[in-house]
Amino acid sequence: MSSKPAHRLRGNPGSGGAEPPAEGESCLLLKLGEVVLKGRNRELFERRLQNNIRSALREFGEVKLWQRKGVVVVRMPGAADAQIAAAAERVGDVMGIVWVHVARRVPRDPELVAATAVRMMAGRSGSFAVRARRRDKSFPMNSSDLAVLIGSRIQDAYGLPVRLKHPDNSVFVEADQQEVFVFTDGIAGQGGLPVGMSGRALVLMSGGIDSPVAAYRMMRRGLKVDFLHFSGMPFTGPESIYKAYGLVRELDRFQSGSRLFTVAFGKAQQSLKNAGAEKLQIVAQRRLMLKTAEALAERLGAEALITGDSLGQVSSQTLTNLTALDDAVRLPILRPLVGFDKSEIMAEARRLRTLAISELPDEDCCTLLTPRQVETAAKLPELHAIEKRLDVEELAERLAGTAKLHRPGATAGAEPKTAPAPADAPSAAAAPAAAAAR
Ligand code: ATP
Ligand code: MG
Repeated sequence: MSSKPAHRLRGNPGSGGAEPPAEGESCLLLKLGEVVLKGRNRELFERRLQNNIRSALREFGEVKLWQRKGVVVVRMPGAADAQIAAAAERVGDVMGIVWVHVARRVPRDPELVAATAVRMMAGRSGSFAVRARRRDKSFPMNSSDLAVLIGSRIQDAYGLPVRLKHPDNSVFVEADQQEVFVFTDGIAGQGGLPVGMSGRALVLMSGGIDSPVAAYRMMRRGLKVDFLHFSGMPFTGPESIYKAYGLVRELDRFQSGSRLFTVAFGKAQQSLKNAGAEKLQIVAQRRLMLKTAEALAERLGAEALITGDSLGQVSSQTLTNLTALDDAVRLPILRPLVGFDKSEIMAEARRLRTLAISELPDEDCCTLLTPRQVETAAKLPELHAIEKRLDVEELAERLAGTAKLHRPGATAGAEPKTAPAPADAPSAAAAPAAAAAR
């Protein structure tokens, strides 16, 4: 038996009250994925994750977090079971968590653990298996003996058959330093890395299907993102802005405090047309969007741009055209969907609950002024010539300065305001109400 404490307790300054009551206490047990693997960076990861969990659970009142190796324990003293179940759902959207279990915290007494497992199996039918493990090896019984003890108590109580392969029910028992956790089911988390761990980036967010999925993918790799949407206004209605607003609102559950910037792009599109863009209109527009995004990114401290481009999906996304887009900016353009098929992107959008919003009708600024023929192999000298006629760098700066800030997230106002924050930004509540009224 090892006397070495296997895990430190952190995030719990007064951990004296760690011992659970004899009858146990419901809590959340969160299993972490890659966070565990980060070596010396681990503490940083853990702290970031804890902050994100706290922020996601703000509406649930007082929560206590304990960090263990590869696991976070969330205690919600006095919370009802329904509230704990709701918190489990909520925390399932926090990036960096692989599994969320509603577990019972029980004292390190094998008989109390067995009694808890028996209570948890009440009303269940079919076969069962007990999966026991010791994260703390000083627990007085080894894993297989503990599993046998609990299994026999469940059999005595209900007469259910044990089946180790593909059981109808599984009872999980995990022994830690201060307590034992007992649980039966779990909610799959998002995996990935805690948001904010990898820095900040700006998403070019159309009202379409792809860009919200691209944003999700990069948030999941630890980027905190802001969003930038170009509408065709004043030549189109505001519908695409409502869609972008609704999309960011859905995505906000993965990071909290999301900011959406909107730019009326119609007149700039007209200028490109007047400068003779013709077949290059779409690629020239996309370059101007990227340049504007870069100017805004500088103000926001974002270190990369994110788009929903997928190779070959539309004519502006041929390899040559994507290269022509890269040429427009110094910042890296992250394209997490570059190798995805549309059907795969749609399946993910459905899961993220963005698909239905993306499929709402709107007047996309890209279809405004679309030439009859779109260039699939844009030549840089021609693009540069068009842009020279417009003084495009200055135009991009000016457009970035007109960006209006919206805060679609449920936790609006949680973050300090940063420039640009124009006085005439529409009220946060107005946009979805207008969208719903259409
Ligand atoms: P999506 O489904 O995201 O609209 P798409 O298949 O329609 O993508 P494009 O219209 O060519 O493809 O756009 C490719 C990418 O360019 C988008 O994923 C997005 O990142 C960016 N983009 C396009 N239109 C806009 C817009 N109006 N505002 C902001 N970004 C845009
Ligand atoms: Mg689009």
